[in-house]
Amino acid sequence: MKIIFFSSKRYDEEYFALSNKNYKHDIRFIESKLTCDTVNLINGESAVCVFVNDIIDRKTLLLLSKSTVRLVALRCAGFNNIDINAANELGLKVVRVPAYSPYAVAEHTVCLMLSLNRKIYRAYNRVRDGNFSLDGLLGFDFSGKTIGIIGTGKIGLIVARIMSAMGMRVLAYDLAPSQECMGFGVEYVSIEQIFRASNVISLHCPLNSETRHLVDKEAIEKMRDGVMLINTSRGELLDSCAVINALKSKKIGYLGLDVYEQESELFFKDLSSEIIQDDIFERLLTFPNVLITAHQGFFTANALENIADTTLKSIKQFSDGLDLPDDVLVSTP
Ligand code: NAD
Repeated sequence: MKIIFFSSKRYDEEYFALSNKNYKHDIRFIESKLTCDTVNLINGESAVCVFVNDIIDRKTLLLLSKSTVRLVALRCAGFNNIDINAANELGLKVVRVPAYSPYAVAEHTVCLMLSLNRKIYRAYNRVRDGNFSLDGLLGFDFSGKTIGIIGTGKIGLIVARIMSAMGMRVLAYDLAPSQECMGFGVEYVSIEQIFRASNVISLHCPLNSETRHLVDKEAIEKMRDGVMLINTSRGELLDSCAVINALKSKKIGYLGLDVYEQESELFFKDLSSEIIQDDIFERLLTFPNVLITAHQGFFTANALENIADTTLKSIKQFSDGLDLPDDVLVSTP
């Protein structure tokens, strides 16, 4: 099948080209993001392959439906950046990669927690600068503290396992509690209790109309003073302005982000010689207790291999007219 890859990076080309030896699709990579303004870059392809910050709204989908494209393949798990109702109405099939390595994201989440607690990002620079003072680097033992996990699906479950093994009490909130989590001692409670009782709160639920700004001013007010807040899920789960106010008042003691509300303007690009115009993002960077990575949670070799293989396999199944697995096919709920 002829496929065009939008928002493609060197590592996409490397891993997809390698995996495509098994599928023999006709593939073309371009760096541009897919939006309604870039649909015209399609040149006879039957599938578009897109990533987290491509904008696949109704307008884009309408234009795609008038082109040669019949399939939208998301090379990621989340599908908040595509208007699924519009895709279904317009007869476009949508596939995603439901799981490629939940370990990659879970381990990165724990990495943010540990680095923030022991201020590794500050210690690294200090030692390189010949400053061996420990002032300002004081941490705490995770063991004996309480973590609240919101969303205990594939990623949240692994975070729960790791933090439980580190001696933490694990509270969780999920619309569909996991038996597996309960099996190793996770306690399901209300979201209110998560906010009130947790020393660390980690978000692992999807972004949708119910969860947008799940962590807003009111939610933060319920949290413990000095709480550690971690978001490796989707940026819009947090109200960034409310979070900045809570950092200023010291209500939030530590913030770890791998995602950001307006990340599509920033992440996955080298802007080191540019003037960043996003004042909210720049304000976040000024706090010594904020650690931000640029959506790299998924970025392990294992995950890239699985993403490439699942995506190209789904496209092959689609072109062969075969049924696609329920968790791969994204359709209107
Ligand atoms: P998953 O579907 O396996 O789990 C999501 C869980 O959230 C489910 O158990 C679901 O019941 C629960 N949930 C749904 N609505 C909820 C709500 N309103 N309140 C509480 N829980 C709710 O998904 P996953 O693979 O664990 O991924 C979680 C999120 O991580 C994805 O939605 C995606 O946004 C994000 N993600 C980030 C990266 C990264 O690189 N940073 C990579 C992959 C996924």
